Order: sequence, then structure tokens, then C-alpha cells
Amino acid sequence: MPEDLDSFDIAVKQLEKAAKAMKLEPEALEILRQPKRIVQVSIPVKMDNGKTKVFTGFRVQYNMARGPAKGGIRFHPDETLSTVKALSAWMTWKVAVVNIPLGGGKGGIICNPKELSQGELERLSRGYIRALYDVLGPEIDVPAPDVYTTPQIMAWMLDEFETIRRHPAPGFITGKPLTLWGSEGRGDATAKGGMYVLKVGAEKKKVDLSKATVAIQGFGNAGQFAMTLVKEHFGAKVVAISDTKGGIYSEKGLDFEKVLKQKETKGTVQGLEGTKNITNEELLELGVDVLIPAAIENQITGANAAKIKAKIVLELANGPTTPDADEILYKNNVLVLPDFLSNAGGVTVSYFEWVQNEQGYYWTRDEVYQKLDKVMTEAAKAVLATSEKYKVDPRMGAYIISVRRVADAMKARGWY
Ligand code: NAD
Repeated sequence: MPEDLDSFDIAVKQLEKAAKAMKLEPEALEILRQPKRIVQVSIPVKMDNGKTKVFTGFRVQYNMARGPAKGGIRFHPDETLSTVKALSAWMTWKVAVVNIPLGGGKGGIICNPKELSQGELERLSRGYIRALYDVLGPEIDVPAPDVYTTPQIMAWMLDEFETIRRHPAPGFITGKPLTLWGSEGRGDATAKGGMYVLKVGAEKKKVDLSKATVAIQGFGNAGQFAMTLVKEHFGAKVVAISDTKGGIYSEKGLDFEKVLKQKETKGTVQGLEGTKNITNEELLELGVDVLIPAAIENQITGANAAKIKAKIVLELANGPTTPDADEILYKNNVLVLPDFLSNAGGVTVSYFEWVQNEQGYYWTRDEVYQKLDKVMTEAAKAVLATSEKYKVDPRMGAYIISVRRVADAMKARGWY
């Protein structure tokens, strides 16, 4: 990321670029350049040592023209309002590109969850809901887990919300444990949704996924499921994977169970017998068919984009590619399947959870996957068709679809 641009500047720049390509009405752009509502709260928490510590929390509702806001809550020591604003904008485009009836939101608390006891974490989670109760709810804004927040935290938050409201409202929050009416299929939804998008991308690029080689950056929720699913769905071969310490490579392909055992026993995937240690930079530049960034933002930049040899980049991570890298990859004919399309499986199954909660009727895992396939495949095809029509890269294609949908909803409401 260029040093003088923060996350929200980037989000606005991307929006402006799309607005120009699609000749968006200036009034619509003016509304969409900023969040509808920003709420900042301070949350006093009685710590285990008897002292009170005050934490800062945010909730940003970017746009709700198409439905209640939806977006995760992050617990992170470096959380900033700018990041939460940017993420709430990206959520707006994400829910619109997969055409689900929701708006975009995001929340966060500046804290280091690794330094908090379970009791402190519970009191902080409940405090966040007490502080923001007035602006949350199944019909207003529906939170979900994100960085360092878990199904358990969602359960505490649901309990706090229902305690204040004095009646059950399971659709208030998603990513809940199954016992509190979470959805089947939520765990691997992000990677699973990515597979449906990859299939559409591979058809376009004429890559035979049954013979494809794959490199994955990141071995967390998204990366681990992606590793098993590319094999399960297509028979593709994962030849490289990494974590914060670095990566491993094997021409013959990596075995998931062995990599997992190595990670669990050694704390890193590196050093696995029969594989070669590589750096994260080397992983990105491998001569593979498919590269899956599934770790953190700003990994493919102006400095390394020209060295990317993959034919397809499936962005499961949020923001792994910088705007200058996008231009280079597009020029080099690398198909980048953009983050807010490729990783929308998570929010789509969150939406399914909310729908099931609201109707009090629950679906099987297979039903969830079938519905997810339909949503993701349709969205991916529309994105590629739009990028061709406007002669822009797929990220811009996705923006054009989303911004048009949100602008049309605002127009119909008479906002401009
Ligand atoms: P996670 O915390 O479970 O895993 C992150 C992984 O990235 C870990 O293996 C970590 O070691 C690795 N990592 C961190 N820094 C790295 C670095 N510099 N180089 C290489 N690897 C590094 O997180 P996750 O849930 O898998 O999310 C990964 C990305 O996917 C994030 O960008 C997240 O926003 C995005 N995403 C996840 C979901 C989801 O449902 N999990 C949904 C949408 C988007």
C-alpha cells in the first residue's frame, strides 16, 4: 500500500475508479463516498485484577439501501476507524455482488484478545453489545465473527442482546454455534464459495483444474479449507503452502494431514520432511496454475506483480493485491478473481443463517452448499461478463455490478 494512503483512501479510490468506468451519477458517488453511520463507544470492563479498563469500540454502517447492514466484528490491538470504515465499504460491495438483500457494515474493538482471560473477553463482548444495542438488531445491523472473534463470542453477544430485548432474536448475529442455531456449512463457507468462483475462472482461462498446480499463502481457516477443497472438488495438486514463518514446496504435492500435524507440533508448516522451505515471497512467484492468497493484505504489490506466474489468482484474503499490482496483472493476462467476490461465501452462508433464523426452519449441509453454489456461480459469471463488456479487470467488473445495484436501490428510494 502506498505509504500516504490508508485503507479507507484505497476503498474510496477503487469506488471512484469504478464510478468513472460506469459513468455513475455524481450524486450517487457523493452518497457512496462515505459511511451512512459511524458509532464509536467506550466500553468499561472490570478486569480480573479488580481494576476497570476502558476499551474503544466501533461500528460502521456504510450503506443500507438494499437491507440491514451485515459485517463482522474484529478484536485487534491495531484496529483503527479507517480500517473499519474501509471494511464496511467492502462489505457493501461484497453483499451486493452476490446479490443478497443486505447492506454493508463492520465493527471492531481495540484490544489484544490474547492478553485477556475468558472472563474478561466475555465481559468485553457483552459490553460491546450494551454500548451499541440501539443501532443493532436482525432488522438493522447483523454482526458476525471476524479477526479474533469466535462462535463463542457470538453466543455471548446473542445472549446479551436477547437479555436486553427480553425475547429470543437468533437472527441478531451470525456465525453462532450450531446449538444456538448457527448454519450448517458455515465453517468452510469462505473457501467453499471460492471453489465455485475458481471453477468459473478456470473455464474462462481454459485451465484444466484436474491437472492444475496450486500455491496457497496462509494456513488458517481460509487456507486450510482451500487446501482440502481444491483436491476434493477438482483433484488439483497443492504444491506450496505457508504461514507467517514461511512456506514449503513439493513438486509431488503436499499431504494435508502431514502439513497439519507439522503445524500443530512445530508451530509452523516449515521443515516438513520431503518438502523444501521457501519464503512467502517465493511462494507468490511460483510457476503454478492457481495462486490463492489466503493470509493478509498487500502481498502482491507493484514490486512483485510482474513476477507472478500463476494464470489465475483466487483472492480468499481481503485486499491481498494493491491497485498498482492490479494493473500489472491485468496487462500480463493474469486472471485475478477479486476478494469481495471470491471470499463472499462466508457472508453468503451468514445470510443463509439469518434467513433460517428468521423463518425458524433449518437446512441440511447439502442444501446450504447447493444454494451457495448457485449464488457464487451466478455472481462469478456476471463479474467476468461485466469485466469483458467494460474492458476492465474483474475487480472493476465486480465494483461496477455492486455499485450499480446499490445506486439503483438509492435512486428508487429517492435519495438522489
Ligand atoms: P486466520 O487467522 O485463520 O489465518 C491466517 C493465516 O495467515 C495463518 O496461517 C497465518 O499464519 C497466515 N499469515 C499471517 N501473516 C502472514 C504472512 N505475512 N505471510 C504468510 N502467511 C501469513 O485467518 P482466515 O480466517 O483464514 O483469514 C485469512 C484471510 O481471509 C483474511 O484476509 C481474511 O480477512 C480473509 N477472509 C476470511 C474469511 C473467513 O471466513 N475465514 C472470510 C472472508 C475473508
